[in-house]
Amino acid sequence: VEELMIRSEKMSVAGQLAAGIAHEIRNPLTSIKGFLQLLQAGVHKDEYYSIMLDEIEKMEKITSELLFLSKPVTNDRNIESVNSMIEDIVSLLQPHARMKNIEIGIEGKISDYILCDRTQVKQVLINIVKNAVEAMDGPGEITISAESKDTNVVILIKDEGPGIPDDILEKLGEPFFTTKKNGTGLGLLITKQILERHNASLTILKNNDRGSTFKLSFPK
Ligand code: ADP
Ligand code: MG
Repeated sequence: VEELMIRSEKMSVAGQLAAGIAHEIRNPLTSIKGFLQLLQAGVHKDEYYSIMLDEIEKMEKITSELLFLSKPVTNDRNIESVNSMIEDIVSLLQPHARMKNIEIGIEGKISDYILCDRTQVKQVLINIVKNAVEAMDGPGEITISAESKDTNVVILIKDEGPGIPDDILEKLGEPFFTTKKNGTGLGLLITKQILERHNASLTILKNNDRGSTFKLSFPK
């Protein structure tokens, strides 16, 4: 499997996904099978059930994110208010963030509009803000702001997490690349795909103090 994963650098995204899926699904399956065999042999421990449930949840998460990736490209583009998309996702994610004492703030007045698929752009914002929440292990703030340029709109999502080490930076967005115990490593892949469809770009900046800033640029 190790060799397969290394060689996959030269494979197409579809090839990488196929190799990754086999790997990501087989591991939990092997583990569930092992625990079922133990139970079948009469070895009972309560924790077996929660381990098996965790593994099943991981496979559920992976398959639903893969389904998102396999959705046909729709062309449901409309003129959307940047502010209203940001407000939607903040109200969606704020309750979860507050449980970790993280405040998601919108800075400044964002009065721009972009031509886009609203659901998909919201998915991009959700993926990035969720990562920001997950990166922060103490109380702090995530700040979302936007800047209007001549030909594009820039959206900035700033967190106070530990930041992203240089050697990891280039791996972000590779299928299944994750540093989290329960991560799928599909969030930024989906993000990149949606941005490509919108001729938009993503740049990751290092903050002066702490954490990172994800900078999105959409054509107007
Ligand atoms: P997942 O969230 O399932 O791990 P993603 O594709 O969303 O998958 O993210 C890939 C990896 O990028 C994360 O595991 C993490 O290591 C890193 N990452 C993404 N956003 C941030 C952030 N704001 N701060 C620190 N690391 C981040
Ligand atoms: Mg993620």
